[in-house]
Amino acid sequence: MTAPLYNRVALIGLGLIASSMAHAMRANGLAAEITGHARSAETRAVALEIGLCDRVFDTAAEAVQGADLVVLCVPVGAMAAVAEEIGPHLAPGACVTDVGSVKQAVIEAVGPHLPEGVAFVPAHPLAGTEHSGPRSGFAELFVNRWCLLTPTAQSTPEATARLRALWEGMGANVDEMDAAHHDLVLAVVSHTPHLIAYTMVGVADHLRRVSNSEVIKYSASGFRDFTRIAASDPTMWRDVFLTNKDAVLDILGRFTEELFVLQRAIRMGDGPHLHDYFTRTRAIRRSIIEAGQDTAAPDFGRSALPAKPAPKD
Ligand code: NAP
Repeated sequence: MTAPLYNRVALIGLGLIASSMAHAMRANGLAAEITGHARSAETRAVALEIGLCDRVFDTAAEAVQGADLVVLCVPVGAMAAVAEEIGPHLAPGACVTDVGSVKQAVIEAVGPHLPEGVAFVPAHPLAGTEHSGPRSGFAELFVNRWCLLTPTAQSTPEATARLRALWEGMGANVDEMDAAHHDLVLAVVSHTPHLIAYTMVGVADHLRRVSNSEVIKYSASGFRDFTRIAASDPTMWRDVFLTNKDAVLDILGRFTEELFVLQRAIRMGDGPHLHDYFTRTRAIRRSIIEAGQDTAAPDFGRSALPAKPAPKD
């Protein structure tokens, strides 16, 4: 086995992404030691109980001491306070990275708190589930998913290359891009779709003409996939919309225009328009499957799950 890429990795925040990283780093021998910190005593106790970290500390400042890699895995809105706390305790030559879903706001929040001689390489793994917390992680979360690095003036080529090797070692494909471009791309592929899912589930919730039991009973018609997205962590998503405001509002404006065009086509009975539109969108789905970013199974692979409870004998 080759030597670990890092001697000590400190994970700040011990939820879905951090716990998946801990499992993946261990499974692939990427870190000699993993330390960690989370805000609540409860999460810290769980992390110790399930062996997520070798050592868990009550403060982020203690957790980062002697670490050659520090990964900020807290909600985007908490990044500045955490960076301010750890800044004076970082080892010279260390690298700080993060996994935040928005990049420009994190760079502005974290960068100013890091001392000279510490590299900062922002990152965002495009992988997740609707689950949160230290028990929700698993080693395969990043396999064949993208991780986007958005280097800044505080990134060194060496620190960026080593972080790339870490993500590749956990199974991810890595790309580098400018933070502003990242935020726009993510507004299209993730942030605005989440907002639409939240809205659709909210609409069903308000619609008293359809009873709750019918909404649940017939949910497999498409609604169910919206509910999975709309079950995502409220704190994380509040912060995403507050910090990627401009890009989301831009894409939402375009979405609303398109929606009005489709609304008019429906009202006018413009079948050819609807057919052409849906033919184009179908081609996009096909290219996502060809790129290996989803399964071609008609039910997103759900048929692997038992459709009905097994009969009791
Ligand atoms: P999560 O499961 O909810 O975990 C968040 C962790 O951060 C928890 O351990 C929480 O501690 C800790 N935390 C919250 N506020 C803190 C503070 N002020 N100081 C110290 N610790 C604090 O979240 P996650 O899904 O792993 O998300 C973490 C980051 O990854 C976010 O920035 C998110 O944007 C990004 N991300 C998420 C996904 C996804 O799909 N979930 C995908 C890619 C990137 P307690 O448990 O003690 O409250």
